[in-house]
Amino acid sequence: MITHPAVGIDFGTTYSCIAYLNEHGDAVSIPNSEGELNTPSIVLVEDDRFVIGTEALKWSCVKSKQVIQNAKRHMGDSKKHWNIAGKDYTPVDVATLIIHKLLADATIKIGPIHRAVISVPAQFNDFQRELMSEAALRAGLKSVDVVNEPVAAALCFILGPEGVWFCELAESQTIFVCDLGGGTCDVTGVRYDKTKVRVFASSGDMHLGGIDWSNVLMEKIANQFRQDFGVDPRDDSESLQYLTLEVENIKRSLSVRPRAALTCQHQGYRKTYNVEQQQFEDLSRHLVDRVSSLTSIMLRDYQGDFVLLTGGASRMPMIRNAIHKATGKSPITSLSPDFSVVHGAAYLAGMLESDSEFARGILGQAKTKRARRSLLAQALGIVVRDNATQTRIPHYLIPKSTPLPATATQTFVTVIDNQKRVRLQIVQSSDTADESFEHLGKCVIDGLVSNLPKGAKIDVTIACDENAEIRVSAREVASGQQAVATLTRPDLGKDAGSKAVEKLTASRVEPHQVFICHAS
Ligand code: ADP
Ligand code: MG
Repeated sequence: MITHPAVGIDFGTTYSCIAYLNEHGDAVSIPNSEGELNTPSIVLVEDDRFVIGTEALKWSCVKSKQVIQNAKRHMGDSKKHWNIAGKDYTPVDVATLIIHKLLADATIKIGPIHRAVISVPAQFNDFQRELMSEAALRAGLKSVDVVNEPVAAALCFILGPEGVWFCELAESQTIFVCDLGGGTCDVTGVRYDKTKVRVFASSGDMHLGGIDWSNVLMEKIANQFRQDFGVDPRDDSESLQYLTLEVENIKRSLSVRPRAALTCQHQGYRKTYNVEQQQFEDLSRHLVDRVSSLTSIMLRDYQGDFVLLTGGASRMPMIRNAIHKATGKSPITSLSPDFSVVHGAAYLAGMLESDSEFARGILGQAKTKRARRSLLAQALGIVVRDNATQTRIPHYLIPKSTPLPATATQTFVTVIDNQKRVRLQIVQSSDTADESFEHLGKCVIDGLVSNLPKGAKIDVTIACDENAEIRVSAREVASGQQAVATLTRPDLGKDAGSKAVEKLTASRVEPHQVFICHAS
């Protein structure tokens, strides 16, 4: 009988899971009361009753007004709440409900759980980490430790039975973790040595995940159905719900089979469509390119030993192949894409139970980092053209309060045919209510190749180090043409009164200053 099981919890944007260390020291996932190892992070509110997980997912389109999903994405946003039947639910409330279900179901299997290690994205700031701890405590735990998701995945790689044994590792290793989840893609550099594991660089795209691949299939099938029968299944919530579940199933089948089928039905019409894996890859190429680009930029900027793939959507063979092609390294795929993070959190929990020095090193490292607390004072980004409104708006790549150093890369596109020049206006957010932003400097790529079509991809990377130095680079993807600018943030670590920056509001940016727009 295990008296104090060591437990790890992964509260994900789309799926959550829980694991413990068994008596042999192996991390084992614990099924929920429906028998699943992954619990959809979805809450359905029904007359003061909460339905959590797959049952809620089944109703997510039909009862969309009663359903809350993607709560993790809003963690730390004080304005965000969901109002259902006159009651407000904050992101912390939703996290509490989901973690409570994980704990309640796991308790039936392994007995009472008082303490756990919960994983959070490397990009979470201290406030968001505190909110996650608060949710876990409100869900019934007595003590909570927080670990970075990529660090947990790296620990699983280092300690797990399918990973590399400790003694086989060199004195120090650099591991890149590429986590393609439901709604986000995080690429993190993790450095390991015999006493600690720490994050040294992180980048990612907050709007790139499995959902985008589902949308590609959804659009393809719904358009085909409309052509066949003149009606669109997306117009009716029940038909849409049915198609959403079919799309999820076929997407998973296409990860293991060269072709699969799905059925679409609406207004009395019904048809089964075959989809080839190759066809799915062709339709999703623009998404795959964004994952490759994020990973190859990280590997170009830093030397590393391994690329570790995790996150449910990394199961798609097109992701594994693209990362291999882009980096020249075979990604490590031996770990479970669904459970490497939660298993790593369970290993850490086990080490904390036995008061291991290594575990204290990992948490101690986080504490030291917090004590030094070098956080980005204002969000950093560039000015882009908003396609919907045709206005110039700031687009922030690194959110305010991100721990430094921080790096972020995103892909943008040119806005006219034969564009010769990309001129990036680098801006930071300001604290004023009118959402104005401040101009920090510019970065220009001149003399782009002739006849570049509108929509040509431009990778923009912004990196900010602890010494207030910002490095901005822009690269035209097809030709590799690149420009780099280095500037110093005037306010970081200094008196804000010394700012000598030009202040612009969205309406005052001249049209010629805007030469790219967001790719998605
Ligand atoms: P998160 O951490 O964001 O909650 P996960 O790592 O659990 O997300 O990944 C969820 C995503 O992975 C979903 O979009 C899901 O559709 C996708 N996914 C899960 N299994 C597969 C598979 N076998 N093939 C393709 N996509 C998958
Ligand atoms: Mg995840």
